[in-house]
Amino acid sequence: MKANKVLDSIKNYEAGKPIELVVREFGIAPEAVVKLASNENPIGTNPSVVRAITQSAHKAHLYPDDSMYELKEALAAKYSVSEHEIIIGAGSDQVLEFIARAFLDEESSVLMSQVTFAMYEIYAKQMGAKIIRTPSYEHKVDEFIAAYREHRPKIIYICTPNNPTGDVISREEVLEIIEAVDEHTLVVVDGAYMEYAAAKEARHAITPREILRYPNVIYLGTFSKAYGLGGMRVGYGIANRQLIQTLTKLRPPFNITTLSLLAAIEALKDEQFVEDSIALHQQQIRRYEDFADKNGIRYIDSYTNFITYLFDDPLNSTEIANRLLEQGVIIRDLASYGMNAIRITVGTGEQNDIFFEKFSEALA
Ligand SMILES: *Cc1c(COP(=O)(O)O)cnc(C)c1O
Repeated sequence: MKANKVLDSIKNYEAGKPIELVVREFGIAPEAVVKLASNENPIGTNPSVVRAITQSAHKAHLYPDDSMYELKEALAAKYSVSEHEIIIGAGSDQVLEFIARAFLDEESSVLMSQVTFAMYEIYAKQMGAKIIRTPSYEHKVDEFIAAYREHRPKIIYICTPNNPTGDVISREEVLEIIEAVDEHTLVVVDGAYMEYAAAKEARHAITPREILRYPNVIYLGTFSKAYGLGGMRVGYGIANRQLIQTLTKLRPPFNITTLSLLAAIEALKDEQFVEDSIALHQQQIRRYEDFADKNGIRYIDSYTNFITYLFDDPLNSTEIANRLLEQGVIIRDLASYGMNAIRITVGTGEQNDIFFEKFSEALA
């Protein structure tokens, strides 16, 4: 049976390898596996969230409140926006999917940086849209504006800070791109790691509030990274009311679970957890920078919860990633993005100790 032809050009999203795979393939005990591959919060789940979910586990037979009022109200207060300017998705991934379905077809094109979040391309291709990339892996304003003028894409994706490289584009530069495009192009500002960028350098923090005045811009945020809820699948989009109404037409009912909704509401009550997570991260990432400096490895200055090491010949990222995997350390090989590089999620002190030990062996 022949599927929709737009699917022919789509490569499946390659998720970070799960712990279960390493246990199965290399016979390593699950507790000995160190997973630094999916940018999860290494501290774990916020204990107050664990309590809330546990106490409500018996409510699993009930559908969630489909208006998601309480969560929207909490997000609205956090960002000084209205509930009507928010849409909730099963991860911000699902909001990306709504956006592609709402605006793209086989006549459209989308613009993104050379190396960026893989799902932008996948959702756009599902709609038959054409992919245009800037020459640089960094988000360069001039490259974005030139490509915009040449191709008039329907959507521009700005991932700041960028995954999988970790670099950031300044707030002024994001606004410069937004100002350069007309109202027929939607600008998606993906702030999945914004909490880390804001903590490192305030001038790189862009807030949903300040982009709301543009009718053609949407901000995306997630509970999967700094809030430590990757497994609960909750993310959100913030934009003007009309854009949110359009996207809501594509939202299936009950698109996040009863317990996910509860977890996100609870997580928003405890900003201290996020601050503690970022404090640990900032302390630990310095070790990765020092290690790289001492060993002559180049890296990209990171504004996220991961760091990207860049290799020069004869070091090969795939070989190193495989050696680490056999030792129970899962990181992300960026060869499929065309880079001789690995992306490592900064873990706890103990996890990072193990990484440095095994990585030194892999280099030798
Ligand atoms: C992790 C991530 C997301 C969204 O993740 P969800 O778990 O679907 O909320 C979106 N964009 C980028 C760049 C990410 O790294």
